[in-house]
Amino acid sequence: METKNRLDEVAVEELATRFEGKGPEVVIQWALEHFHPRIVLASSLQAEDMVILDIAWRINPDVRVFTLDTGRLHEETYASMERVREKYGIAIESFFPSREAVEALEREKGFYSFRQSVEERKFCCGIRKVEPLARALKDRDAWITGLRREQAVTRTVLRKVEFDHSHGIIKVNPLADCSEGYVWDYIRTHGVPYNALHDLGYPSIGCAPCTRAIKQGEDVRAGRWWWENPESKECGLHVTPVETGQSTA
Ligand code: SF4
Repeated sequence: METKNRLDEVAVEELATRFEGKGPEVVIQWALEHFHPRIVLASSLQAEDMVILDIAWRINPDVRVFTLDTGRLHEETYASMERVREKYGIAIESFFPSREAVEALEREKGFYSFRQSVEERKFCCGIRKVEPLARALKDRDAWITGLRREQAVTRTVLRKVEFDHSHGIIKVNPLADCSEGYVWDYIRTHGVPYNALHDLGYPSIGCAPCTRAIKQGEDVRAGRWWWENPESKECGLHVTPVETGQSTA
């Protein structure tokens, strides 16, 4: 049964089918009209997030935006947050990890435990990203992401509208079928501010110790957790439906 803010799984599937092939503006307009103010835009201040933010702001300047301040972000990412404040008048809501959890992590495992194994890396992401995300999405009906299918092998089945079983709300991915070329064309055409790291060879931006610039010809996610197998390269923020149910990769 569908109410104003609650959609059942059939309605979600119908919406995903309806929006396939439609531009991000159409999807974002629907999402904001349907869910605002109980919808939030997740931003890690990378190019895709800036495109989403610009489109959303043009539709509704009161759009709510949050970021996960893991405590390990690049200086350039904080500078981008300030540029958003200056250009759009949007105060990004930042969510920090639990102080006690980070203190225990660093005391017991050191400052680079994420390099030791996938499990240790996911443990750190769990503390610094996954738990704060749950708080950011608490009492919301929907969230918007800048995910694209071509970004990673873990994202090829992405739908434009999905039911996010991890958080019990709707997840909207307006750029799911967009190319990297679309993203940069939009940024240049609309004068959208972007993270300076992109000009230094970073196509994908995360925490400073887990992100590096890539060389020409490398995969766009090659600079994220570069010591790991590509199929494990998710931080747990984005759960993808797979044949057997839910994956937390
Ligand atoms: S990306 Fe790296 S530093 Fe950031 S939360 Fe994950 S493991 Fe920790």
